[in-house]
Amino acid sequence: MSVTTWAPVPHGSPFGVQTLPYGVFSVWGGPRRTGVRIGDHVLDLAAVAGTPAGDGLPADVGAALAGPSLDALLAQGRDGWAAARRWVTDVLTDPGAQTWASEHLRPLTDVRLHLPFTVADYVDFYSSEHHAANVGRLFRPDAEPLLPNWKRLPVGYHGRAGTVVVSGTDVVRPCGQVKPADAPEPQFGPSRRLDIEAEVGFVVGTPSPLGEPVPASALPDHVFGVVLVNDWSARDIQAWEYVPLGPFLGKSFATSVSAWVTPLEALEAARVPPPPRTHELLPYLRDDPDQPWGLDLDLEVVWNGTVVARPPFASMYWTAAQQLAHLTVNGATLRTGDLFASGTVSGPQRDQRGSFLELSWGGQDPVRLADGSLRTFLEDGDEVVITATAPGPEGTRVGLGEVRGRILPPRC
Ligand code: MN
Repeated sequence: MSVTTWAPVPHGSPFGVQTLPYGVFSVWGGPRRTGVRIGDHVLDLAAVAGTPAGDGLPADVGAALAGPSLDALLAQGRDGWAAARRWVTDVLTDPGAQTWASEHLRPLTDVRLHLPFTVADYVDFYSSEHHAANVGRLFRPDAEPLLPNWKRLPVGYHGRAGTVVVSGTDVVRPCGQVKPADAPEPQFGPSRRLDIEAEVGFVVGTPSPLGEPVPASALPDHVFGVVLVNDWSARDIQAWEYVPLGPFLGKSFATSVSAWVTPLEALEAARVPPPPRTHELLPYLRDDPDQPWGLDLDLEVVWNGTVVARPPFASMYWTAAQQLAHLTVNGATLRTGDLFASGTVSGPQRDQRGSFLELSWGGQDPVRLADGSLRTFLEDGDEVVITATAPGPEGTRVGLGEVRGRILPPRC
C-alpha cells in the first residue's frame, strides 16, 4: 500500500492513508453523512462518489456509503468493505482524483461527529488476565483471584446497547443502591466510586443465522472493524448488585465508543500471537498459530490531561476470534451492528492498568495528576480520554479515534 496522499496529513500522524477509519458527521445541524478520516480532516464519501472520482465504485457500495450511518456499509460484508477501502485509498492517493475530492474535505473542527452505527446487541468480555486477577483480589480477597472457568472460556455478559454513546457525550454520575461494608442496611445515593474501563470493541457487520455457531477463523468475515470503548463502571453499585448474575445497573448507565471505526483490514500489521496458554482449550476455542488474532494496540488513558496508564492490548489472554466463537457457540445469532468489547485492558505493571479501581488499588493508593491533585475515583467535572495506536504497514502507525467523556453531577 502506498503511504503517500495528496491530502494534508500532519507529519507523524497515525491517521494517514494506512488507517482510514469511517465515521458519521454533520455540518451546522445538517444531515448526517458518512465520512472517512484522513489526518485532521474528514472526506465526505457520498459527495466524492457523485463526482467522476466515483466512477470506479461498485454501485451497491456507493449506495451504502451514501447513508446517514455506517449501517448499510456494515451490512455489505467483507467484499464490500474491501471494495470501499480500495476506492477510498485510490481517491486519496491518486493525484487525478484530487481535483474532484479536495473540495469535499472538511476540517474536523468544522464538523460534529455522531454515533457511527446503530448498536444492535452489546456484549462485554473480561479477557485481561491481569485485570481479572486484580479485580478478584480486590472483590474477593480471601479466594483465588481467578475463578476456575476463567482460563477455560472467555467470561462475558450482555450489556445495554441502548446506552452506548459516542465519544464526547457527557456522563451523568449514576445514582443507585449501595451497601458499604460497615452499614447495616443498603443506602440510596450518587455513586462515590465511579470508574472507567479502557477497552477495545469489535463491530459486527455480517450477521449469522440462528442455530449456527461461527468459527473463530471467520472473524474477518463477520467483524468490520474496531472502536475504542470506555465502559464506565460504578464500583459501589456493582459490588452490592453483582452476585450472582453479574453486572447490571453499575454498568448500564453509559458506555462510550469512539466516533471512528477502524477497519480490521487496517490492523493487519498489528496481529500478534496471544500470550501462551496454560490449559488445553476445547476445539472451538483453539488458536490457529498461523492466523493469530492478538492485536498489538498501545492504549493510553488520560485523566484531566495527565497520562495515568498505558495498557497493552497484546497482553489480552482471549482474542476477538475466540470471543466471537464463544458468543455464538450456543447458536446465538450475530446481527449487523453488534458490538463486543474486550473487557478492561490491563498489563502486568501498575502504570498499565486500565481502570482506576486497579490504579488506586480499591481507593487505597491515590493517583497524582499533573496539577498536584490526588484521585481515587472520578470527581464531577473530570474528563477521561482514551487513545490507541498500532503498528501499520511500512513502519507507519495506525491510530484509533479517541473516546472522550466528562462526568456531570448526579441528578438524585
Ligand atoms: Mn467492561
